[in-house]
Amino acid sequence: AKRNGRNTYRHYAAGMQLYSLDRMSLETDLRLAIERNEFELYYQPQIALDSGQVVGKEALIRWHHPQRGLLTPIHFIEIAEETGLIVAIGQWVISEACRQHQAWLQEGFQPMRISVNISAMQFYQSDFCDMVEHILKETRINPAYLEFELTESMFMQDADAVVRTLHQLSRLGIKLAIDDFGTGYSNLSYLRKFPIDRLKVDQSFIKGIEREPINVEIVKTIVALARSMSLELVAEGVETDVELHWAESSGCTFVQGYRFSQPLPAEKFTRWVREYKY
Ligand code: C2E
Ligand code: CA
Ligand code: CA
Ligand code: CA
Repeated sequence: AKRNGRNTYRHYAAGMQLYSLDRMSLETDLRLAIERNEFELYYQPQIALDSGQVVGKEALIRWHHPQRGLLTPIHFIEIAEETGLIVAIGQWVISEACRQHQAWLQEGFQPMRISVNISAMQFYQSDFCDMVEHILKETRINPAYLEFELTESMFMQDADAVVRTLHQLSRLGIKLAIDDFGTGYSNLSYLRKFPIDRLKVDQSFIKGIEREPINVEIVKTIVALARSMSLELVAEGVETDVELHWAESSGCTFVQGYRFSQPLPAEKFTRWVREYKY
């Protein structure tokens, strides 16, 4: 039994070592990924249920790893956050999103909102707003079309700095949304204090909503909350017709999810929008 135990331990240790080597190599590669131009933004459409029109899109990062192929954020965002690399990556994301928005306008597209995910560490940088302002000037994007997706957890820390940053962003004309709404902070008073424009209902409430009566009640409650505060509401992760129906009848005004499209590279997104019919 003892021997067995030791073997088990050895296997476990070897596994851990492999794991950390793997992680170290990813980290090394991640440090080089920006200058090697390996990141790409994919775009997922957002549809307004009243008009049926595509009214916006969320930018979602992808990494073309030279050996591992196309990686989604689950494979590298955590490492990027732990190493602080998310600050540089996040800056690239904002700048690339603005550049692409302007490129679409040049191609003759009607402007539509572009939403960018902001990571907590990035948001807490003391020069975050200056950096954003710089990108706005450089790309000449109309900030009314730019939206930052923040998470509730950001409002738990260092309130003064958070309030200042939010107001500064709002003064720049940027829209603010709360991502994954309903999964984090339970004290909702921050909604009154801050210049928030939209809530994104977390996809866990939409998934299989027809089989989970409690989720219907939660979504309806969030809808009522959003209405009373004049906030727009996006339902995320809408995959099926049934989920779309429920999101709509619960009062959600915007939807996003595989039911319409997966996130797509810019060119494919352009084609998708051209061919889209509600
Ligand atoms: P998120 O912001 O909540 O984004 C939604 C995620 O759900 C995306 O995964 C999207 O591809 C996926 N999704 C969209 N529609 C559906 C659907 O109908 N069903 C299901 N099951 N999933 C759907 P993705 O692209 O893998 O991104 C995962 C997370 O990584 C994002 O969650 C966000 O937190 C983070 N992330 C993505 N891009 C960035 C970025 O540029 N910066 C930062 N800081 N984080 C990012
Ligand atoms: Ca998001
Ligand atoms: Ca989300
Ligand atoms: Ca999320």
